Amino acid sequence: MTHRIEINAVSKSFGAVQAVRDVSFSLAEGEIVALVGHNGAGKTTLIKLMLGLIRPTSGTVRVLGGDPAADPTVRARLGYLPENVSFNPALTGRETLSFYAALKRAPSRQVAELLDRVGLSAAADRRVRTYSKGMRQRLGLAQALIGAPQVLLLDEPTTGLDPALRRDFYGFLDELRAGGATILLSSHALSELEGRADHIVIMGQGVKIADGTLDALRGIARLPTRIRVR
Ligand code: ATP
Repeated sequence: MTHRIEINAVSKSFGAVQAVRDVSFSLAEGEIVALVGHNGAGKTTLIKLMLGLIRPTSGTVRVLGGDPAADPTVRARLGYLPENVSFNPALTGRETLSFYAALKRAPSRQVAELLDRVGLSAAADRRVRTYSKGMRQRLGLAQALIGAPQVLLLDEPTTGLDPALRRDFYGFLDELRAGGATILLSSHALSELEGRADHIVIMGQGVKIADGTLDALRGIARLPTRIRVR
């Protein structure tokens, strides 16, 4: 099986703070994998390592067969949705995506294609300030999809969404996966991942606590209480 992401014995310190300690996991092509943990568990640090924004203190990070921190061609094949993504409210949806398309040097026709894909065609020429939370989140996903990335890294993409919007969101991830994308997302909520993630990596204070399917994680007593599987 081809691995799209391989995190191997990775540690990352910021001065005296050890944000991630000896973590290993991998994502096969076409998998949806969730990183779950409380605030400060190390999820964003792992995503930044996969994006190549920071380098590990020790261990190796391989994405799409290369080192994202050293190889811009790897970075160009990644899509990223930051936590709490915010857009300029005075721009329209179309202008916002055009800006990202220019940044990523993606063909401008992708703007209309992606607006259609995330269901924002009718609102494309409205300013983002008039968008609902769900619409902004779909714009965020469209932004992450510019350049047709093979790997998507989504940092807490469902925080603040109601259950119906979460369902829509996961349905959309399934479509992307069917199109060949490999997806890593972080979340606070294990419960919403039922039937959505191929496997789940549970992080606690920088350390990997468990890694498996939701079924396999059920009953693991050492999971932190608030993310214990019921
Ligand atoms: P959240 O859900 O709040 O985003 P997280 O699981 O993503 O949490 P990280 O942001 O990866 O957690 O943070 C892990 C630890 O590393 C925290 O203690 C954080 O304060 C620390 N940390 C992260 N980035 C830095 C940095 N640039 N400098 C110093 N400490 C950092």
